[in-house]
Amino acid sequence: MEIKEAQFVVSNTDVEKCPAGNRPEYAFIGRSNVGKSSLINMLTNKKTLAKISGKPGKTRLINHFLIDQNWYLVDLPGYGYAQVPKAERLKWEKMLRNYILKRENLYCLFVLIDSRHPAQKVDLDFMEWLGLSQIPFSIIFTKSDKLRPVELEANLKAYEEKMFETWEVMPHYLVSSSETGLGKEEILSYIDSVNKN
Ligand code: GDP
Repeated sequence: MEIKEAQFVVSNTDVEKCPAGNRPEYAFIGRSNVGKSSLINMLTNKKTLAKISGKPGKTRLINHFLIDQNWYLVDLPGYGYAQVPKAERLKWEKMLRNYILKRENLYCLFVLIDSRHPAQKVDLDFMEWLGLSQIPFSIIFTKSDKLRPVELEANLKAYEEKMFETWEVMPHYLVSSSETGLGKEEILSYIDSVNKN
C-alpha cells in the first residue's frame, strides 16, 4: 500500500473533540525523540506533515490526519518527559489515557521504541497498561539504520526476553528506519490488513 493523500484534520487535547469515530484509526506514540515524526513523514511521503522537533516534548496535542479519505493517522504526544513539571505531565497523561480508552475506532496503537536502547521502564509499564486495558497495539523498533544487523538482532532478542518477564507472548512488532525506508511497506501492509478485517 502507498499513501497518496494525507490531510491534516484537527489538533486538540480532548478526545471528545476528535473527529467522528467513523473511520479506522491508527495512532503513533513513544518517548520523545524516538523518531515518531520522522516515521509519520516517511509513511505519508511528506517531509513536514509531523514536525520533527529538535526539542523534546513539543507536540502535546492529539493530531488527526485523514489518509486517502479512508482512515485516520493520529500523532499523539510523547510520554515520559522527566523535565516537564509534574502537574503538566499528569494532565497530559490523563488526556492520553482518555483518548486511548475512549476512542472506539482505534484499531491499533503503534508504540515506538528506539531500537538502540535497552528496555525502559516507562515503555514497559505503558505496554503493560495497554495489555491490561485490552488495547490493540504493535511495537515499532525505530532507527534500525543506526545499528549493525547483529547489534539489532541482539537488541531485539534482549527486548523480547525483557517482555517475557510480563508477557506470555511477545506482542506483534515491526522494525523501521526513516533513513532507509525500512519497515514502510510492512507497516502500511499491516494497516491495510487490519483495515480489511
Ligand atoms: P520525535 O520526537 O519522536 O518526533 O522524533 P523525531 O522524528 O523528531 O526524530 C528525533 C531525531 O532522530 C531527529 O534528529 C531525527 O532526524 C532522528 N531520527 C528519527 N528517525 C530516525 C531514523 O530512522 N534513523 C536515523 N538515523 N535518525 C532518525
